[in-house]
Amino acid sequence: MSTRSIEFRLGAWYSIVFACGLAAFSIAAWFAMRASLDRAIDDELIDRVRGVESFMDQQISALSLPEIRDEFREHSVLGPGGDLFQVCDARGEWLYRSVPLENLNVPILHPGDLHGARFEDRNLNGRVLRFYSQAIAVHRSPYTVQVASVLNEGLAALQRFRLLLVLAAPVLLLAATAGGYFLSRRALAPVDAISRAAQRINIENLTDRLEVPRTGDQLQRLSETLNATFTRLERSVTHIKQFTADASHELRAPISLIRTTAEIGVQRDRPAAEYRDLLNDILHEAERTSQVIDSLMLLARADSGKETLECNLVDARVIVKSAAEQGEKLIRNRALKFTVETPASPVTIHADADALRRVFLILIDNAFKYTPDGGTVWLRLSAVPGFGIVEVSDTGIGIARQDLAHVFDRFWRADRARSREQGGAGLGLSIAEWIVREHRGSIEVDSKHGRGSVFRVRLPAV
Ligand code: ADP
Repeated sequence: MSTRSIEFRLGAWYSIVFACGLAAFSIAAWFAMRASLDRAIDDELIDRVRGVESFMDQQISALSLPEIRDEFREHSVLGPGGDLFQVCDARGEWLYRSVPLENLNVPILHPGDLHGARFEDRNLNGRVLRFYSQAIAVHRSPYTVQVASVLNEGLAALQRFRLLLVLAAPVLLLAATAGGYFLSRRALAPVDAISRAAQRINIENLTDRLEVPRTGDQLQRLSETLNATFTRLERSVTHIKQFTADASHELRAPISLIRTTAEIGVQRDRPAAEYRDLLNDILHEAERTSQVIDSLMLLARADSGKETLECNLVDARVIVKSAAEQGEKLIRNRALKFTVETPASPVTIHADADALRRVFLILIDNAFKYTPDGGTVWLRLSAVPGFGIVEVSDTGIGIARQDLAHVFDRFWRADRARSREQGGAGLGLSIAEWIVREHRGSIEVDSKHGRGSVFRVRLPAV
C-alpha cells in the first residue's frame, strides 16, 4: 500500500488522533485518580485531628495525664492508621506519642511554630508517610496534633494503574489502527467499484453509463459527474465521426472529378482547345478542393484553440465598405441590385478587420448565391447603444423553418447539389459563427422560405 494512498492517510490520521486521545485520557485519568486518593487521605487525616480535638476538649480537665495517655492508646488501636499519631503541648512535652512514631523519632513541632495547619510527605525507613499537623487550643492551652497515614498502598495502586495503561495502550492503538484501516477500506470500496466500472467504458461502448447509487452523497455525485463526462465525450466523438465522414465525402467528390477529367484527357489525342478546357475544369476543382481544405484547417485550428485573432480598435464602416467592394466584383455578370448603407458617424469596435471582412463576405456571397437574378441584396451597418449591427438581407430563396436550426452546422446545406454547383461546401457559416463568437458577438438568421433571408451580426461597440 502506498504511503500517499487515501487508505493509508486515513488510517494514519485515525491512529494519530486515537493515540493523542488515549494519551490525554490516560494522563487525565492518572492525575484524577491521584487527586482523589490524596483528597481521601487528607479528609481522613483532618477527621482524625478533629476527633482528637473533641476528645481532649471533653476529657482533658477530668482525666489525669496517664489516664489521657491510656485513652489515646486505646483510641489509637481503633481505625485504620490510628497508631500514627502524636500530641505535644506548648512546652514541647509529649502528651501522647504512638509507638511507631516514637520509633521513627518524628521531631516535635511546637504549636507556636505551626501557623494553622500543614500537610507534608516524609520518607521514613522506606515508608512514605503523609503528615497532617494542626495547632489546636483546648481550654486556652495550645497543642500540636500530628496524625499520619501510610501512602505506600495508594502509591502502589497508582503504579499498578500506570502499568495497566502503559501495557494496554499499544494493544488498543494496534486494534484502533487495524479498525481504522478496515473502515477506510470499506468506505473506499465503492469508489474502487466505480472506477472499475468506469474503466470498462471505452470508445466502443461509449453509450454505456455507470449505475448511480441513490445515496445522496459524494459517491452519487461522483457517478453522476462521470456519467455527465461520458455524455459529453460521446457527443464529441459523434461530432468528430460526423465531421470526418462529411470531410472525406466532401473531398472525395472533387478528387474523383479531377481524376475522371484527367482520364478523359489521356484517352486519345485532342485539339489544344479541348485540352485547355479539360485543364480548366481540373484547375477549377483543384481550387475548390484547396478552399475546402483551407476551411477545414481553419475550423480544426479553431477547435484546438490554436487559431487566434488579432483585434484592434477599428471603425466597422471601413470593414463593411471594403467587404462591399469585394462583393461588387462577385456580381459583375449578375442582374442583382446590391445596396450598402452605413451610418454617418463611426462605429468603433474591437475587432480583427480581416476576419470580420471574411464574415461579411461569406454572408454577401451566400445572399448572392441564393438570390435569383432580379432580386436585391442589402448590406446595412447600424449602431444601437453598446453594439454595432451588420445585416445582410436578400430577396432570395430563403430557408425553410425546420432548417433554420442547422444553417450554422458544419457541412450543412439545404440543397447539396445546388450548393456544390455554386462552390459551397457548407462550411462558410460555421467559420462566420466562430469568428463572430471570438469577437464576443452573436449571429442570427431570420428567413422565410421563398421570400428571402436576413443574417444579423451583433458586435460589442467600444
Ligand atoms: P455554403 O458554402 O454551402 O453556402 P454555408 O455554410 O455558407 O455553406 O451555408 C450553409 C447553407 O445555408 C447553404 O448551403 C444554404 O443552403 C443555406 N444558406 C446560407 N445563406 C443563405 C441565404 N442567404 N439564403 C438561402 N439559403 C442560405
